[in-house]
Amino acid sequence: MENKTSSSNFIKNIVSDDLQSGKVGEVVTRFPPEPNGYLHIGHAKSICLNFELADEFKGRTNLRFDDTNPVKEDTEYVEAIQEDVRWLGFEWDDLRFASDYFEEMYERAVLLIKKGKAYVDDLTAEQMREMRGTLTQPGQNSPSRDRSVEENLDLFARMRAGEFKDGERILRAKIDMASPNINLRDPALYRIAHAHHHRTGDAWCIYPMYDYAHPLGDAIEGVTHSICTLEFEDHRPLYDWVVAECEMEATPHQYEFARLNVTNTIMSKRYLKMLVDKGVVESWDDPRMPTISGLRRKGFTAESLRAFCREIGVARAYSVVDERLLEFFIREDLKLKAPRTMAVLQPLKVVITNYPEGQTELLDAENNAENEEMGTRQIPFSREIYIEQDDFMENPPSKYFRLFPGNEVRLKNAYFIKCEEVVKDADGHVVELRCTYDPETKSGSGFTGRKVKGTIHWVEASQAVPAEFRLFEPLLTEEEGDSDKDFLDRINPNSLTALQGFVEPNMKDAKGQDKFQFFRHGYFNVDPKHSNADRIVFNRIVSLKSSFDPKA
Ligand code: ATP
Ligand code: MG
Repeated sequence: MENKTSSSNFIKNIVSDDLQSGKVGEVVTRFPPEPNGYLHIGHAKSICLNFELADEFKGRTNLRFDDTNPVKEDTEYVEAIQEDVRWLGFEWDDLRFASDYFEEMYERAVLLIKKGKAYVDDLTAEQMREMRGTLTQPGQNSPSRDRSVEENLDLFARMRAGEFKDGERILRAKIDMASPNINLRDPALYRIAHAHHHRTGDAWCIYPMYDYAHPLGDAIEGVTHSICTLEFEDHRPLYDWVVAECEMEATPHQYEFARLNVTNTIMSKRYLKMLVDKGVVESWDDPRMPTISGLRRKGFTAESLRAFCREIGVARAYSVVDERLLEFFIREDLKLKAPRTMAVLQPLKVVITNYPEGQTELLDAENNAENEEMGTRQIPFSREIYIEQDDFMENPPSKYFRLFPGNEVRLKNAYFIKCEEVVKDADGHVVELRCTYDPETKSGSGFTGRKVKGTIHWVEASQAVPAEFRLFEPLLTEEEGDSDKDFLDRINPNSLTALQGFVEPNMKDAKGQDKFQFFRHGYFNVDPKHSNADRIVFNRIVSLKSSFDPKA
């Protein structure tokens, strides 16, 4: 599973053949996001595919913003997308915007009109839909279809000049209203939108449609392999038509692959934006979001996302990937990298009554039992410590090996302690344990006098650093039968739990995005937004174990 970079997929085979046959001299790809939201894990698959393909064959990859829909687009997204691509580990050759080409696209549309291959239509969107026909019935020609070239040129120039309102006129390709492929039934090329564009401002009030802008952008940039998801398969004849009829010098080709779907994961910018706008999550980079920025803030590494994308591969068959596969790869990545320390998420105070008052000693602890190179650290131990509330039970069932009255356990890296007394508040809640320790049992001393069955973690109380631990569940509750249920009705009210506890004193200098394994709790990341001088906030990336085996 380590190095799958060089494993094959059908697109690589095509590129390799094209290079060998001399059909292309150099492979050029592009990643073409629309800046109408933040990128999600599905986009990561497309990014890895495009950049790694060019890397492997020593070609080039452009980042091109597909900014043809001014109403939904924003520079905030443009910046966030660049940050995400770079963070994933890729650098583009050129940064381009579809809007860079608006003038050339306009001129090519004029060329189409002159060739009798495009016309201005006056039909309303509603009428156009009615006349488009169905899968089994051909469409009908619009009354405007036979307009003269002169009239079309005049109307198109007036569209550009702003003489018409939104929706009043449209430029259509003149192809074939009876084509079995509905995409070829005189598709729209330009629409009117009196809207402010994040880059071109108010220079334009007509905007090219995706099916027109995309092939032209590819051809202008010399893209050789234009890779997109399968929904666009039926658009390919139109893609080829645009490149040919607009008389583009370069001839890019479109190839389709199956989009990434992940179980129980929302994979659409539109829906993710609803979660942000409705305040269901804090922001696009909320650690519960399947966005690249959300996964990063939760603590996923770029390496783990790339390994995931490599493992799922590239195919044309529809498939859904188990969400736990992503978790598998972050565990793999952090196993040897993350220091292992102790954190108490739900503290219960323990007083060690036979430990000298006012004394503190330093104990040695390994930083990563599986990676000696990470060395050791010293942690303080004294008369008062915190343990996990869960690690004590007053009336335990049999087979409970942690702390209960009269029982002895090992404190990780320290001593055996025995619970002598339980202190409760007026409501009967356990608020403190009084224990004794055995100085002979110090960890690493070679003590073999007796054994205990349970080992629990702890943090020394006087120097403990306050911390908040954020634990996550999926944003959506599992679908039960009625999969049609509106996704906003499936919001999981327990997607975030925040616990107030403590970490070891040497964690006080932890910085945003530092990652740790907390003994028995899993992998955690320092939240870069919410941590401050008084309190470190940790996001749980993933628990330690899962029964999920990706190789099974
Ligand atoms: P969304 O519906 O989430 O906005 P999109 O496809 O409209 O997705 P774009 O910004 O247009 O988003 O996509 C940029 C590139 O990412 C496209 O090439 C698209 O095919 C690819 N992409 C988007 N979603 C996925 C996915 N789930 N799996 C693989 N590639 C994807
Ligand atoms: Mg889109």
